[in-house]
Amino acid sequence: MNSSETCIFCRIINKKLFAAVLHEDDSVLAFLDIKPVNTGHTLVVPKKHYVLVEEMDDSTYLNMFRVGRVLLQKIKAAFPEITAFNLLIADGKDAGQEVPHVHLHLIPRKPDDGFGYKFGPNYGKILTEEERATIAERIRSNM
Ligand code: 5GP
Ligand code: ZN
Repeated sequence: MNSSETCIFCRIINKKLFAAVLHEDDSVLAFLDIKPVNTGHTLVVPKKHYVLVEEMDDSTYLNMFRVGRVLLQKIKAAFPEITAFNLLIADGKDAGQEVPHVHLHLIPRKPDDGFGYKFGPNYGKILTEEERATIAERIRSNM
């Protein structure tokens, strides 16, 4: 079976499954998340099945963020109690990606809504200049 049958977002894109669509164009579809953090929580997804952002072509990637920014303004206008947004991509299983088809979350936020990042045991140490320079050099040398 290919992704158009097994992938839940491909099934939405192919109109085999219902979604409350906010936007559609040649390269992306945006629809409400079934289990929102807050009302208006939206997903913007490429119409082509990509698992990770590194697989995407630049124009689709840019369009996903462009559409995301247009939509967050509309969501805020529709629900004035929304005061902020998190734009989030879980890019891989270890980052919390549950649906293996790229999706940009537009997460509406309200004061004291209880949503937030959880920091792990590796968080908290302030790196020295030397440590940061060494890491940056290692990354740059792989470009
Ligand atoms: P992830 O954890 O992969 O970053 O996020 C997957 C998101 O997809 C979750 O927020 C989840 O609620 C949403 N989702 C999963 N299945 C469906 C579905 O069938 N329809 C819609 N609209 N959203 C879904
Ligand atoms: Zn898919």
